[in-house]
Parts: sequence; structure tokens; C-alpha cells
Amino acid sequence: MARVLVTGGAGFIGSHLCERLLEAGNEVVCLDNFFTGRRVNVRHLLDDHSFELIRHDITEPILLEVDKIYHFACPASPVHYQYNPVKTLKTSVMGTINMLGLAKRVKARILLASTSEVYGNPLEHPQTESYWGNVNPIGIRSCYDEGKRVAETLMMDYHRQNRVDAKIVRIFNTYGPRMLFDDGRVVSNFIVQALKGDPITIYGDGSQTRSFCFVDDLVSGIIAMMETPDFTGPVNLGNPLEMTVLDLARLVLDLTKSNSEIVHKELPQDDPTRRQPNISLAQEKLSWVPKMAPQDGLVKTIAEFRSRMAEEEA
Ligand code: NAD
Ligand code: UDP
Repeated sequence: MARVLVTGGAGFIGSHLCERLLEAGNEVVCLDNFFTGRRVNVRHLLDDHSFELIRHDITEPILLEVDKIYHFACPASPVHYQYNPVKTLKTSVMGTINMLGLAKRVKARILLASTSEVYGNPLEHPQTESYWGNVNPIGIRSCYDEGKRVAETLMMDYHRQNRVDAKIVRIFNTYGPRMLFDDGRVVSNFIVQALKGDPITIYGDGSQTRSFCFVDDLVSGIIAMMETPDFTGPVNLGNPLEMTVLDLARLVLDLTKSNSEIVHKELPQDDPTRRQPNISLAQEKLSWVPKMAPQDGLVKTIAEFRSRMAEEEA
């Protein structure tokens, strides 16, 4: 049995990861400062003797005895990472240095949750891992994009200089149960708006594309990467099925049977026009492909949003 640390473990992806790691028989230490994570996301795990929850900010060092580190702590949605951009950078830079220092000391394997945002507004399509990206270093998304790019650099330098067993996954847009209602991301916004009968807010004309991966599929890819020896990555993890934001809006309206009208709002600065992962490397090295069709994943997500909204209203 391995002792596994999940930073950001009370967040959206982190909580699903903690759950799956416990199911597989690991001891899990979940570390979170609860900026966007919530205790309720891991409430059902608190009685498990193999689970431990620690409130800690990763910009401060911490000493723990662990075998593996899944490093996920970092606000991920534009509204959250732009709320305090300096803190976002500190989390990516100082937080990753602290986690790499820990990995080095206790000889733990460490996996960084990087992002498709390292490709910026990509000039290559679909994006392969060898593409270096087109990122604005001084824009409003830079605290997140450049923060993750530095985090990747730190992973590679600790790997080369200190032989830290490092791994990098570049995660593309992911959705599923437990996303925050107000995180401003497109899937959560559209579902909440549709369920409340509020207008569906499309930024720009809705022709920009994204490729959405269901969280269970993503977690399988993340664990496969951690368990694959001698492969540092970076490796793309995402669903290559590309759709426009307008198509997503229509699909959500259809699945919720909502009468919400569609309204258009201004496109945010530096909003990438197209995004689609090339996942050949993940297929080859991890034998991983996402399985969930968007309709099925959205139906599960909508059901969980519905029951959580009813719970919060009660
Ligand atoms: P999330 O906001 O739900 O989770 C992030 C977690 O990190 C939260 O629980 C938050 O409280 C915690 N956190 C933030 N700063 C911290 C700090 N300084 N110290 C300790 N804990 C801190 O977001 P998510 O969607 O679950 O994303 C998790 C990771 O995956 C992030 O690193 C994100 O960059 C990456 N990622 C997510 C997506 C996606 O589509 N969801 C895409 C690409 C990459
Ligand atoms: N978007 C939108 N309406 C919303 C929220 C987002 O049209 O209410 C658009 C946004 O401009 C972007 C896409 O949906 O083009 C995905 O946005 P999100 O913030 O979910 O992810 P990211 O831009 O980081 O990929």
C-alpha cells in the first residue's frame, strides 16, 4: 500500500482522485487551503481510516512521509485565478518548489497537474506535446498560464538536476460532478443557467472551440501516468472531441429541457479560439483513451447539479 499526497485534494478533480486512490487501497493525505476546494467534497471520505485531511497552504513548506505526490493545488477557473493573480503565481511557483523539495527529501514520485493553457492561443491544431505554445506573458491569463509553464520548468529542472522522479500531465477542459456553481467555467455556467431558466451567456459569437473530458476518464489517465515507469511526459490528457461553445449551449439546453434564451456577451481578452488535444502519446504510452460520450457525461453532471441545487435551497 502506498502513502499518497494529493495537493488540492478538496477541489473538483482532486476530490475525485482521492476517492479513486482510496478505492485502490492507498493511504491518502489530502492537503488543501480551501480557497476553491470544499470540505463537503471529501466529507464522505472522512470516516475512512486511510484518509487524512490537512488544511495547509502550499506556498508554505510542509514535511510529510509519502511515496507519491499528485500536485493539483492551484485555482483553475479564470474567475478564481484572476481574483488574486499574485497569489496564483505564488501557488504555482513557490508551491511547486515546496512540493518538489518534499519529493526530493523523501524520494517520492511527483506528478504535476499542468494545463492545455501552456499552449496559450495555439497556432498549431490540434495541440501535440512538442508544440511550445503561443502565450501572452503580460495578459490577464498569464498568472495561470505562465505560472504553470514555470511549474513545468521546475519539474524538469528538479528531475535533471536532482533526479526527482517527476511527471507532467497537461489537462484539457474537464467537467463533471462537484464543479462549483459559480466558478465561471462554461460547463458549470451553462448548466446552472439552464436549470434556473436564466439566459445562457455565450462570450463572443460562440464559434470558439473546446474539447471536454469527463472527470472519471481524466482520473484514469492521471493514475495511469503516475503508474507508468520511466515516462516523464509531458503528456496531454483530454477528450479530442472538439465542439464549439454554441454547440455546447444547444446540447445543455436540450439535455435540461430548458427554455433559457441564448445571449451573447463580450469575449474575454486572450480567450483561445480553438483547443483540441492530440492524445496519440497518451494512447501509446498509457494505453489511455477517454470513454464517456459528452451526452452521457453531461447527463450525470446535470443530475448532480440538480440535486446539489435542491440541497442548497432546502
Ligand atoms: P479546483 O479549483 O476545484 O481545485 C484546486 C484546489 O487547490 C482547490 O481545492 C483549492 O482550494 C486548492 N488550492 C488552491 N491554492 C492552494 C494553495 N495555495 N494551497 C493549498 N491548496 C490550494 O480546480 P480543479 O479544476 O480541480 O483543478 C485542479 C488542478 O488541475 C489545478 O492545478 C488545475 O490547474 C488543473 N487543471 C484543471 C483543468 C480543468 O478543466 N478543471 C484543466 C487543466 C488543468
Ligand atoms: N464561455 C462562455 N460563456 C460562459 C463561460 C465561458 O461562452 O458563461 C466561453 C469562454 O469564453 C471560452 C469557453 O467558453 O471560450 C471556455 O471557457 P472556460 O472558462 O470554461 O475555460 P477556458 O477558457 O479556460 O478553456
